[in-house]
Amino acid sequence: MVTKLGVLGAGTMGGGIAHTAAQAGFEVYVYDTKEGQVDRALDGIRQRLDRAVAQGKESAEAAAATLARIHPVSDLAAFEQVEAAIEAVVEVMAVKKDAFAELDRRLPPGALLASNTSSFSITELAQSTRRRDRVVGMHFFNPAPVMKLVEVVRGEDTSDETVAEARELAHRMGKETVVVQKDTPGFIVNRVLIPLFIEAIRILEEGIASAEDIDKAVKLGLNHPMGPLTLADLTGLDVDLNVMDYLFQETHDPRFAAPLTLRRLVRAGRLGRKTGRGFYTY
Ligand code: NAD
Repeated sequence: MVTKLGVLGAGTMGGGIAHTAAQAGFEVYVYDTKEGQVDRALDGIRQRLDRAVAQGKESAEAAAATLARIHPVSDLAAFEQVEAAIEAVVEVMAVKKDAFAELDRRLPPGALLASNTSSFSITELAQSTRRRDRVVGMHFFNPAPVMKLVEVVRGEDTSDETVAEARELAHRMGKETVVVQKDTPGFIVNRVLIPLFIEAIRILEEGIASAEDIDKAVKLGLNHPMGPLTLADLTGLDVDLNVMDYLFQETHDPRFAAPLTLRRLVRAGRLGRKTGRGFYTY
């Protein structure tokens, strides 16, 4: 059973995954190539834990124990002792492939290698390793300590045991899992979400309703906690456009073709969350 977990990349997702795993009792070893990044991630985790203690959601002892289980490491030698690793580096294929080759060299034979990629092919990432059967997608959602779902993605060569172990790992972290049986762009959530974003943007483009009313309709009519335009702003319009372009490039399916309005907003630097100017200033 996995007790020591490596997390590669300490950005938004790596930090969140490290927090979640440490809270669940794993000893977590965190590495990032960028100077000072692991310390920044630890500061963020500390702040979230302090808030939880102040709100009475967590005891001070439990918060201290969670922090003590997170071990910042300055090189990958520490990963020689872990039983599984989750990769959460930038969404650039060449960077991820190099990272997987390095993890494959460092981790003990047979250790599980998971990627938190939002879009890339698990099969392709596995090609950089000599353990294709042990490579699997574990797609967490942001913020990882809060969001309940992990999409477990099976690559062409992923074994049944690896899928079962990835699910068990996620369950031990307090998550629910779904299994994506075919390694396909968008997995389940983005495949459903992106056409919803696109249709909401088209309704706005066609002048059928205001941004506020489109979101209100989806929230109250479909019981979604948040409207699609608010969610698109929150994700970042540049990120949304990248995902659409990637899905379209991979599938040539017009359902994923990015609306021109979105491209225009991104070109104008109106990126939603990051700039405070997105669909609500359309
Ligand atoms: P981020 O930019 O916040 O963090 C990426 C980190 O990886 C950076 O700190 C960077 O220094 C580090 N890094 C780059 N190359 C590295 C290497 N070779 N070894 C170690 N560290 C390296 O990005 P993020 O938002 O945390 O996304 C990480 C992954 O998670 C991506 O694959 C992304 O698609 C996926 N993802 C993101 C979200 C989200 O909402 N942000 C949600 C689900 C999945």
